[in-house]
Amino acid sequence: MIYLDNSATTRTFDTAANAARKYMTEVYFNPSSAYSPAVSAEKSVNEARRRLCGALGAASGNVIYTSGATESNNMAISGCLSKKRGKGRIIVSSVEHPSVYETAQALSAKGYEVVTVGVDETGKVDLGAFGGCLTADTDFVSIMQVNNETGAVNDLPAIRSMIKKLAPNAVLHVDGVQGFLKVPVNMGQCDMYSISGHKFHAPKGVGALYVGNGVRFGGGQTGGGQESGLRSGTLNVPGIMGMDAAITTYLANEQAYRKQMVLCKQRLYDNMMKQGDVMLNGPSVDAGAPHILNLSFLGVRGEVMLHALEAKGVLVSTGSACSSHKKGKNRILGSMGITGERLEGAIRFSFSPMNTLAEIDTASEIIAETAAFLRKYKRR
Ligand code: PMP
Repeated sequence: MIYLDNSATTRTFDTAANAARKYMTEVYFNPSSAYSPAVSAEKSVNEARRRLCGALGAASGNVIYTSGATESNNMAISGCLSKKRGKGRIIVSSVEHPSVYETAQALSAKGYEVVTVGVDETGKVDLGAFGGCLTADTDFVSIMQVNNETGAVNDLPAIRSMIKKLAPNAVLHVDGVQGFLKVPVNMGQCDMYSISGHKFHAPKGVGALYVGNGVRFGGGQTGGGQESGLRSGTLNVPGIMGMDAAITTYLANEQAYRKQMVLCKQRLYDNMMKQGDVMLNGPSVDAGAPHILNLSFLGVRGEVMLHALEAKGVLVSTGSACSSHKKGKNRILGSMGITGERLEGAIRFSFSPMNTLAEIDTASEIIAETAAFLRKYKRR
């Protein structure tokens, strides 16, 4: 099997699985309990929290552990708006993940003013249009760091400085799920930042929300008052410690990992461009995130291609796994002005540092053969 769907999820690192196992079978105590083995679990979590702040480049602020980025994104929005009087004004981009986009749409239905800012043809937020949306009464802005379908990388420093100038009261939340560890970031570039463990070789069901100092934030679920009263619920210690170990492994190899993903991405791109009727969706290979490549195979239906490739052992996706159960047009590529055959034939390839160039060459042959076969079949 050749796995090229690492934006959907990744294989857990052995270091992360071993850490999670240790906190399930040995240090399994509830970190909120009073006896010393539990206090030691709590200490481990707080050490992991400090290391995560370091990995985020956060000079101050706090990290709240969550069940993943869907929760982090929902909580960022609801936890800020709960601190506002009346209904607020919110800006999101047209290519946000559903955990931001659909949450904003739901608020719009409740009477909040929700402004959706578009993207350019490479999938980046259109900064001219963004400036036009910013107003002094804007409360909350959510813009992703890296798009999960195209690998487009937004210009966070520019976005941040436009907000400071034109909407100084607004909180900037960044969905960092596809950017964290892949593209440099520091918490000076935003007020809030969401991450999800399973996108960087940690177990599924664990993530975090960074909240900067001075952000008026009411938190998420209520209950026993864990996470300084901001996110109740018994801490997922195995998940948190597994995520901590994955981050440590990633950081120890960061440059080599990024280089390997870029090599794989470039190789697949070069191999595919030698075939006819293939188009790149998103930024140029060197401008995008290291791990995502979106290509359209003209004259082929993406879904049919996905299953034909699966039958030959190559796993890819037509878009994000979260929306693969939803029928209808692709909101992300549609926002970039992509239509017709190009929209229909889009496939997302996403890499991990464990992919090899030999795998990419084998996959390339299979993809080229499959596309040629399906085109013949379709055009007959
Ligand atoms: N945001 C982005 C950009 C994503 O790619 C994903 C996962 N597909 C999420 C949020 C949701 O993350 P989780 O799976 O942890 O809920």
